[in-house]
Amino acid sequence: MYLGRQYRLQILIDKEESVKLKGKFIVVTASDKSRVKELLNDWYLKHARTKFHTIATPLIDKFKKYKVEPTSVVLREMPTRWGSCTPKGKIILNPELIKAPKGCIEYVIIHELCHLIHHDHTQKFMDLQTKEMKDWEKWKMKLEKLLA
Ligand SMILES: [Zn+2]
Repeated sequence: MYLGRQYRLQILIDKEESVKLKGKFIVVTASDKSRVKELLNDWYLKHARTKFHTIATPLIDKFKKYKVEPTSVVLREMPTRWGSCTPKGKIILNPELIKAPKGCIEYVIIHELCHLIHHDHTQKFMDLQTKEMKDWEKWKMKLEKLLA
């Protein structure tokens, strides 16, 4: 899975290692079969860093009207959460999100940005989240399906 699309994994053995998207395939070229998992994980992590940054930047700008801004946005593997927001305003995103559609990634980022204003899930929080993303429930449901 990559950005909500399913690809077939193609494995090639060669000294020159690489991971590439080619049509309906993710082509992993590894020097040995045992390297495939690590190469693929590195590829996901690299793409998570750049894509999350691209997706988060305009959303962070949007929230400047509320006079809030995250102190930083970092990636961290979390077994049971897609994102979190520390009391100091650091937003943490699960790199596994790169497997989900863009709308799901936007939903998690918007959810955490709303926590910069309301640190709980009260009605005020929910109203703000709906104001910033009308169809958030749809993306939340898609994320839950990914976990199932
Ligand atoms: Zn929350």
